[in-house]
Amino acid sequence: MTMTTLAATLFTVVELPYAYDALEPYISAETLHFHHDMHYAGYVAKLEELVEGTRYATMTLEEIIRESDGAIFNNAAQAWNHVFYFEQLSRHGSHHPEGHLLRAIDETFGSVDELRRRMTTSATSLFGSGWVWLASDYDGRLYIITKPNAGTPLNDSLVPLMCIDVWEHAYYLDYRNQRKQSVEDFWKIIDWDVVEERYRAATR
Ligand code: MN
Repeated sequence: MTMTTLAATLFTVVELPYAYDALEPYISAETLHFHHDMHYAGYVAKLEELVEGTRYATMTLEEIIRESDGAIFNNAAQAWNHVFYFEQLSRHGSHHPEGHLLRAIDETFGSVDELRRRMTTSATSLFGSGWVWLASDYDGRLYIITKPNAGTPLNDSLVPLMCIDVWEHAYYLDYRNQRKQSVEDFWKIIDWDVVEERYRAATR
């Protein structure tokens, strides 16, 4: 899904692109029901309520994220972040990056294993709730970005490529306090085909 599609689906709860049990055993159907139907859908409903009758009501999600702060920013960014997060997961995707993305990862981090290690460390050392992002600038340079709460690299003029949801609601039902194990399992269900397509779009 491109960012244009995301913008077009403002105030719509985007359905999961797979069945609720499609990511088991790494993410349970129960977690996905709560994560998608309650948390993500809750951000969309709250955003709708907050922007009603304001100048934000006619903006795209990305415009709201760039121009707002406080509760409106938090709910808009969480709505955007979650669609982006769910879309990148699959049990059946490519398990290793290829092509231009692989070359950029090797140049920046030395290896895919080192990228995984650094993002895992960022996720396990983030205090409280937030997101760890792999992002690209328009020249194709890669960055690992850690953001608290609803933070997104969209506001740093970077293009998000991949994200780890480090809110407890993303893993606590399945992993309890074992955040590190949840991140290690995240790497088994990241679909590198999706990440590569995002990278191609960012550097086109
Ligand atoms: Mn979440």
